[in-house]
Formats: sequence, C-alpha cells, structure tokens
Amino acid sequence: MPNQKTKKEKTTDDKPLNERSVLTDKNEAEKPAKRTARRTSAKKAAEPKEKTAENATAEPKKTPAAKRPSRKAAAKKAPAAEPIPVAAEQAPELPQPRRSVAFIGSECYPFVKTGGLGDVMYALPKALSRLNCDVKVILPKYRCIPQQFHEKMVWRGTFRMDLCADGRAFHVGIMEYVWDGVVYDFIENDEFFSTGNPYTNLIDDIPRFCYFSKAALAALNYMNWIPDVIHVHDWQAALVPVYLRTLFADTPVASARTILTIHNLRFQGVYNVPTIQYWTGLPDSVFEMGALKQGDQDANLLKGGIAYADRVTTVSQTYAWEIQDPFYGDGLDAHLRYHSGKLSGIVNGIETTLWDPASDALIPANYSCSNAVAQKRANKRALQEELGLEVNEGKMMIGLISRLTDQKGLDLVNSILPQMLDGNTQFVVLGTGDQRYEDSFRWFENNYRGSVCSNIMYDETRAHRIYAAADALLVPSLFEPCGLTQLIAMRYGTVPVVRETGGLKDTVQPFNTYTGEGNGFTFDRYESGLLLDAINRAKTLFFTERARWDEMVVRDMEKDVSWERSAMLYRSLYLEIKP
Ligand code: ADP
Repeated sequence: MPNQKTKKEKTTDDKPLNERSVLTDKNEAEKPAKRTARRTSAKKAAEPKEKTAENATAEPKKTPAAKRPSRKAAAKKAPAAEPIPVAAEQAPELPQPRRSVAFIGSECYPFVKTGGLGDVMYALPKALSRLNCDVKVILPKYRCIPQQFHEKMVWRGTFRMDLCADGRAFHVGIMEYVWDGVVYDFIENDEFFSTGNPYTNLIDDIPRFCYFSKAALAALNYMNWIPDVIHVHDWQAALVPVYLRTLFADTPVASARTILTIHNLRFQGVYNVPTIQYWTGLPDSVFEMGALKQGDQDANLLKGGIAYADRVTTVSQTYAWEIQDPFYGDGLDAHLRYHSGKLSGIVNGIETTLWDPASDALIPANYSCSNAVAQKRANKRALQEELGLEVNEGKMMIGLISRLTDQKGLDLVNSILPQMLDGNTQFVVLGTGDQRYEDSFRWFENNYRGSVCSNIMYDETRAHRIYAAADALLVPSLFEPCGLTQLIAMRYGTVPVVRETGGLKDTVQPFNTYTGEGNGFTFDRYESGLLLDAINRAKTLFFTERARWDEMVVRDMEKDVSWERSAMLYRSLYLEIKP
C-alpha cells in the first residue's frame, strides 16, 4: 500500500480569491450577537487563501488592517435613528468558551431535504450559533439545489484530491454561502453531484459519499479552518472519522475530535469490500471486523464511523438504548453494545419560527394558546372544504403525515381503519412511498367518501394545514429514531397518538386520566388492537370530556419542543470531548 498520507490531500490549481464577496440574506432580522458571529465568518471568508490542504496550518492569519472596519467606523456608518446597541455587543450573554464545529452531512433544508436529517442540519447549527459556537456546515453541491442559492454562493477555492486506491484524483471546488451566523460550504464536483436527487442507488452513492467525506476534510485543511469538533451525520459522512484517524492523521485537521450522529440506523452504506477499498483508498487495516468489515464480503461505512468516532449519538435516548437490541439494531447491535460507552441520545427539536401557528402564513386561521380551540375549528372547516370532506366541525379529524413505508406502522393503520371510521371521525393522510400503501389509502378514500382523504403527494402547504386542522395525529411507527411530526403536531395543538418507541416515547407523555397530565395517547406493543385502543381512548376524551381535551391542546402547545435545550446538550458534549 503506498503511503497515501503524504499524497492524498495534495492540492493544485489554487487561485487568488480577490473577487470574493460574502452575500447574506437581506430579509433576515439580525440580533447583535448573530451579527458578531456573522462578522467573524465573513472575515474568515475574506481572508486570502494561498495554502493547500497539505501544507495548511492552524495558525491564525491576519487580515490587513485597512480591510477591517473598526467598531468605531462601523458605528459611524450606522444611521442615526438606529444606534448600535454598544452595551449588548460588548457584553453578550453567551456561554463560554466559544467552540468551532464543522457539520458534515448529505442534506440540509432549505438547500436539499428528503427527511428529518435535512431539518436537523438546518436548525441545530443555527441554535448552536446562538450558543457561541462558530459553525460551518459542509454539504455536497447538488445540482438540484434551488437556483436562488446557487446564485448566492461565492467561490472559495479549487484543488485536486487523490481518492481511489490507484491514485485516481478528482476536482474539489468549494463554494460558500453565509447565512444567519452559519457558514455553508458546498463541495462542488459535477461528476458526483449532478443528479436530480441526492440519493440514487448504492452503486453511485457509495463512490459519491466516499468522495464527499474525504473532500470535506481536505477542504477544512485547504481553508485552514480547523474546528474543535467535527460533527458528522449518518452513513453518508461516516467515513470522515475513519479518514481523520488514518490518511489525515498527520494533517492539521487531525486535532479535531469527532461526533457521529445516527439519524436512522436502517441506512448504513454497505457494499462489497473491493469496491469500497477502491473508492476510499483506505489502508487494509480498517477493513477488519472491528471497523468496516461486515460478514464475509462486505464493508459497512456506518460501522466504520461508529468504531472511529470519539462519540456516537442518536436522536433520542430511547433509540440509543433500543439499537443495542437485535430487534432494532439492524445487524449492528453487537457493535453498538461494544461501543456503548461512547453512545448517547439527544432528542431533536423543531425550528419553532418555521413551525408557529401564530404566524404561519400557510394556514387560514392563525392562533396561539389563548384562542387555539376556536381557531383550530376554523382551520378544520377550511380543510374539510378544501379536501371535499363533510364540513362539520363536530367531527374528530385524525391526521397522518408520513413517508409511506413499513417503518411508519401503516399496516396497523390499514387494518383498523374501518373500525376507526365510526361516522363521527374523519381521516386525512398525506404522504408518498411504497405502492401498496399509496394504493390502500386511495382505496379507503374511494370507499369512505367524505370521511377519508388520501393526499398521495409531498406538499409542505398541505402538511401545515393538516397540522393546524386535525384534532389528533397518528404516529404508530415500528421504530422511530426521533420523529418530528409528533413534535410539530404538539406545537399546533394536535394531540399525538403514538407507539412507545424511540423519540416518540421520549417526547409524548401518555395522558393520565386521574391526574389529567400528559400530552397524548400511547401504546406499547406493535399490535393493531393496541393502536385501536389508543385511538378509542383519545376519542372518548374528545367526545365526552371536551374541556379536558381542550386543556391538553393548550398543554401541548405550551410544551417546549424547540432546539434550545438539545443544542445546549450538544454543546456540553463538544466541551466534554474538547474541554
Ligand atoms: P422521517 O425523517 O423518518 O421521514 P420525521 O418525522 O423525522 O420522519 O420527519 C418527517 C418530516 O417530513 C416532517 O417535517 C413532516 O412534516 C415532513 N413530511 C413527511 N411527509 C410529507 C409530505 N408528504 N408532505 C409534506 N411534508 C411531509
């Protein structure tokens, strides 16, 4: 095996970045602390860049004084009517010390999103930047990213990077977009990222994300931006800790510590050893059973990441515990038990400014806790009209917003739907996925006209309207790492009916009929009878004790489902591994 440490990150084709400018979103409302964070990022982006990934060092560079406006100068430029809040800038109440974190993952709202990972990659960096973290998010520059964002990206550099076992090299471009205290760096390579969808099939996805993982690290060296922590997400970025401790071990970025977050253990990035050996160029030593190797012939990227990361997290505590069991472990339970000392769970939050019934422009009637009961009825009537359901606010509307796959417990829903539809209940489903579920929900709509509406589509607006109009939302998943729909539902005063698994168990407290506490209705074993029982308990409260139901609606809306607490926990974890 050639010594790849010395040649892997060699870069060429450096160009001066003198034409760079940093664009920001003019619509965003900035707070002083955010502005300070952005200035730091913007200043970094404006630094001249000569070094390659190979020779980059962590020493700070000095920006010419002439280019750096002083605070006084900045204050002078400010309009007289809006004085700069000097005191707030001088003494920001931010947790100390400041930490720098590189997020590396395959999707991030609003650039590209296929599921919960995209939401987390958007919201968590923003929440961390409010907690005195300097965050850079590294993403593939897919062609499918909306044009408006491509136009805002600024070129930061170009180099060539050796990738494959035979030394085959590829172009790496870095395009940057700074927005709301977070720097987004996009890895550009048309050979890998020109498809319409971020994920196509494993034959293409494996090389694509081998390349991405290595290019992300090489880009950090190239930019001389050496973070305290590198936080990687799911199998697509799981090779980053492996590369860091092998081919990058003697480069500046190796001083960073790593966290791997598993958003869904079902997807692991498994392919035969020769293919992965070729595309990664990694040494033979990592293809052993304790690291990437799986079974006789395969290599598993997520497994390698778990072995090499300093910490592994999942998106809820219960899921962190469940995946150490063969039922939920998807073949990695023994590996996870072995690494249980560094495994923990931190539950996701939601972006409460995006999901806010008081200001949501996509719903007909806005509301807060004080007028939720009346306004939700107005939203229900509007949705009944829009979807061709019987218009009657006295009906109980039960919603379901989901990918239509086996994970989501839809076989249970199908088997109890006729019993659920008692003449006083309506059912609205929104989702796309497996043909058999799409067909079965269409069949129910045809046979229960006026009571069932099946929206077989992906539609953000309709999702918002269902969250606002429904009385209850079903999430009967077989497994659920965290789940966002139950959190959004509670934020909109829609009572969740969930199976007690993963994040559903951690976020929905079952209603206690004696104390009146709780946020929703739950069941434990994966059985349709138990789902029906939970729905019937919800119906009983809704139809016979409406005042107590309405109290629960308000309790749900008051529940803290924001990112703030979870972001604090991530920050604590960063400090633990990099004090
Ligand atoms: P997963 O990541 O497993 O798909 P989550 O509950 O974590 O499930 O996240 C689902 C997200 O996708 C939520 O924001 C939900 O509102 C949204 N969503 C799911 N299906 C649809 C759909 N058909 N139309 C609009 N939004 C959807």
